[in-house]
Amino acid sequence: MSVKKMILDVDTGVDDAMAIAYAIADPAVELIGILSSYGNIEADRAADNALKLLHLLHEDDVPVFLGETDPVDHKYQRIDINAQIHGENGIGDVELEEVTRPVENEDGVDFLIESAKKYGKDLTVVATGPMTNLAAAIEKDHDAMKMIGDITIMGGALTVPGNVTPCAEANIEQDPVAANELFTSDLTVTMVGLDVTYRTLLTKKETKLWRETGSEAGIKMADIVDYYIDVYADIYPELGGCSLHDPLAVGVAIDPTFVTLLHMNMKVTTEHDAYYARTIGDKARLNDPTTNVRVAVDVDKERYLEVFMNLFLELFNKLK
Ligand code: CA
Repeated sequence: MSVKKMILDVDTGVDDAMAIAYAIADPAVELIGILSSYGNIEADRAADNALKLLHLLHEDDVPVFLGETDPVDHKYQRIDINAQIHGENGIGDVELEEVTRPVENEDGVDFLIESAKKYGKDLTVVATGPMTNLAAAIEKDHDAMKMIGDITIMGGALTVPGNVTPCAEANIEQDPVAANELFTSDLTVTMVGLDVTYRTLLTKKETKLWRETGSEAGIKMADIVDYYIDVYADIYPELGGCSLHDPLAVGVAIDPTFVTLLHMNMKVTTEHDAYYARTIGDKARLNDPTTNVRVAVDVDKERYLEVFMNLFLELFNKLK
């Protein structure tokens, strides 16, 4: 089995926490760094959450870098709904042990570019926050970014409504300009959006099993995710669980056969109208012989959940 070198670009909220745990739990992955973005929470607090989670999961050697702190064309401002969904502290208002380790001095975007040059096709990048860091890196060194083996994002909605507006998904809505730069570049991108994450759900039946491992990591992760499950029960009672948005993107980056992919050329609507931040086919490139976005439109949720649970339980048992 070849081990993938992976960078996670996160805005550490609850599902980003699960994405981090998934990358650590899967032996097919070597997590070489975490890039912190704004989104669910401010970038510096997202970085702090990532450091604490890495400590909880006994991975204090994974470096954490600060990425871009604002969208391309406006200032980031945390909105109330983010505190409601992810908790005031971004991780379900669960207190994790403070860490003394700081974020790295190197800029996150530079780390991304350097890693692209160093590892090329052996590098996998999974972005589960806004696309601002990816767009900044493409702008700064397109040729280096073009060398990356796989870029998978959690974001967008093609066949289902958005979760911010009827058209817009949250990660894309944070910075549609950056997302559009990524989609209309010549880099190949796999889009894991609400089309599949609304159908990939976790309940307290599963988090109870994490808790029962008796490990601090299992108990704390269950506390964090139970907060999210309760919020989902209020906001989306029809779903019957919480969406595994960000960890599904990590799973798909490791094993794309979890999903059915539609190959398309896509764009993001950046005009400030009702269609703001919509991810949709790019009419200007619809008939191009080459396509660069692969949109996940269906998911083998049973198999994914089985793999997800096996990895998490194995990790929590190991950390006892
Ligand atoms: Ca996220």
